[in-house]
Amino acid sequence: MSFTLAIVGRPNVGKSTLFNRLVGRKLALVDDQPGVTRDLREGDARLGPLKFTVVDTAGLEEATDESLQGRMRMLTERAVDMSDVCLFMIDGRAGVLPADRVFAEILRKKNARVILGVNKAEGRAGETGFFDAYSLGLGEPLQLSAEHGEGMADLQEVLMPIA
Ligand code: GDP
Ligand code: MG
Repeated sequence: MSFTLAIVGRPNVGKSTLFNRLVGRKLALVDDQPGVTRDLREGDARLGPLKFTVVDTAGLEEATDESLQGRMRMLTERAVDMSDVCLFMIDGRAGVLPADRVFAEILRKKNARVILGVNKAEGRAGETGFFDAYSLGLGEPLQLSAEHGEGMADLQEVLMPIA
């Protein structure tokens, strides 16, 4: 049986980098709801033996300040609704920011099944963020480097029981 993974989190944490790594070049736009369509990207992902659908919450970077919060919230809620599990990414170098806590709250309210990923963690750079991440109350974080492909075996392992 297959499943859908949504990658969520504030802009610039590395969601699209991971999406691209998981999908390669094949991707499709999610096209069933106007206004959201260009900001949710869906693709067929592969991770070791696992095959699943992955959704990237994209396009947030282009939103204006005043609309950003509401837009991020809407897209995240939508992504949660269409997925079985969420990978909530934070930037391990930046640590846990107030915006990250807003996302954690959205996920908690939605009762989403969450995997917490601390990205940009290559070369121990994400260590501070890793320990901070426990304070989000979303369980044990995974150390990832979307750019360098680190932590992919750990991600595979936590996804295995969902598949
Ligand atoms: P998004 O806004 O969450 O989709 O983030 P992007 O995937 O666009 O990445 C934002 C920036 O972080 C880009 O400059 C990426 O190259 C960089 N980035 C993504 N993943 C990593 C990583 O694992 N390590 C480092 N050092 N940089 C990363
Ligand atoms: Mg992106």
